[in-house]
Amino acid sequence: MSHDILVLGAGMIGTCTALQLQRRGHRVTLLDRRAPGLETSYGNAGIIQREAVQPYAFPHEPQLLWQAATGRSLAIRYHLGALPGLLPRLARYWLASGAGRYPTIASAYGRLIAHCQSEHETLMREAGVVEGVRRQGYLSVFRSPQGLEQAAREAEALAREQGLGLDVLSAAGLAQAEPGLRPGLAGALHWRDPWTVQDPGALVQAYARHFEALGGQLWQGDAGGLSRRSGGGWQIQTDQGLWQGPHAVVALGPWTPRLLEPLGLRLPLFVKRGYHRHYRGGPGLTLPVLDSEQGFVLAPMAQGVRLTTGAELARRDAAPTPVQLYRAEPVARGLIDLPEAVETQPWMGCRPCTVDMLPLIGPAPGQPGLWVHAGHGHQGFTLGPASARLLADQIDGTPPLIDPTPYLPSRFRP
Ligand SMILES: Cc1cc2nc3c(=O)[nH]c(=O)nc-3n(C[C@H](O)[C@H](O)[C@H](O)COP(=O)(O)OP(=O)(O)OC[C@H]3O[C@@H](n4cnc5c(N)ncnc54)[C@H](O)[C@@H]3O)c2cc1C
Repeated sequence: MSHDILVLGAGMIGTCTALQLQRRGHRVTLLDRRAPGLETSYGNAGIIQREAVQPYAFPHEPQLLWQAATGRSLAIRYHLGALPGLLPRLARYWLASGAGRYPTIASAYGRLIAHCQSEHETLMREAGVVEGVRRQGYLSVFRSPQGLEQAAREAEALAREQGLGLDVLSAAGLAQAEPGLRPGLAGALHWRDPWTVQDPGALVQAYARHFEALGGQLWQGDAGGLSRRSGGGWQIQTDQGLWQGPHAVVALGPWTPRLLEPLGLRLPLFVKRGYHRHYRGGPGLTLPVLDSEQGFVLAPMAQGVRLTTGAELARRDAAPTPVQLYRAEPVARGLIDLPEAVETQPWMGCRPCTVDMLPLIGPAPGQPGLWVHAGHGHQGFTLGPASARLLADQIDGTPPLIDPTPYLPSRFRP
């Protein structure tokens, strides 16, 4: 049976949701206050991370915690003023990252991410995406031989267990793979499976165009006007008209709580902010390079080499403080020549995170016809199509891609 379905938010998550539902014959309206793919799904490192079978855990190593606490870490930074509000969620994140719960969480994460490439592949093929996607993995580089050796041991065990493609490159092997990098690195892990996208926002826009070609409606407007209809179902009035129907999906990424909290749904979401800037004029890169010891990524993009930073724990709407980016710049210039910064002001975005690192995919507790699709953290660009298929299976009542239980929003409101 086909339904009228409204999807709120046209990032990677909302756009894939709308597309997966439209492909199944529903009448779908995708609403965003901006054009598709201009927020978090634009500014990321563009890696479709098939190897990311373990979600990004809260560090437990005393040395890393001390570096973060004393402001010496490039990977993690925090606003002191935001900590009191964030502490209850960070405490739950810390607990979920411990040895007791993390293996179960990682196993659920791995089961979903296992489908990331097959689902992107289908959507890319149907949407006619032929350029701008490299299928040659990315490099995780190390300065110290000991660091490389230890990381290689752990990565090789994971690769064996999960059937992932991995090569350990010596300094000479790395120089051959990426001649633009300066000499002096100890080597790298080459994760071979991931795909890398040269313009992440453009991929979302290609999916949105395909959605429209299939008959989907793209509306511009504010999701804040969503309300329950007295006879059941949901409605919203926009400049483009009145939408009414039985199902609405909230896929507003970092802004999801703004819509759910007035409905009485307080799900434990928080954000890890990140920054980027592009650089032109140097030797460039063929594959993204993760500086594992410092926690930033250099990715070859259409606009130049994109330097993306680690996590900043701060209020979503606080003014940008691109300290990590400014501190990462000279370190990155130690890896590769980055002569000319393209933007005067760095871009900032917010990774939408949950306290147990698993996304929210399923019905909104106590709100019939309302669905939550958010909280994809560090890998929303990767997970969009697979996660959207799992949500569409639930809306349709068809056999699910995988067991949806670990991702249901009701896990936080039993
Ligand atoms: C620096 C950085 C690097 C990253 N690198 C990677 C990576 O390499 N690989 C990966 O898989 N992931 C990566 N991520 C994570 C990934 O970018 C996110 O998980 C993903 O983009 C989240 O997508 P989304 O659709 O949920 O949110 P968004 O893309 O933010 O989309 C939310 C949409 O909601 C809309 N919206 C908000 N409020 C309203 C409103 N009131 N009315 C109407 N519309 C509204 C916004 O305009 C926006 O279009 C990275 C993130 C960052 C910050």
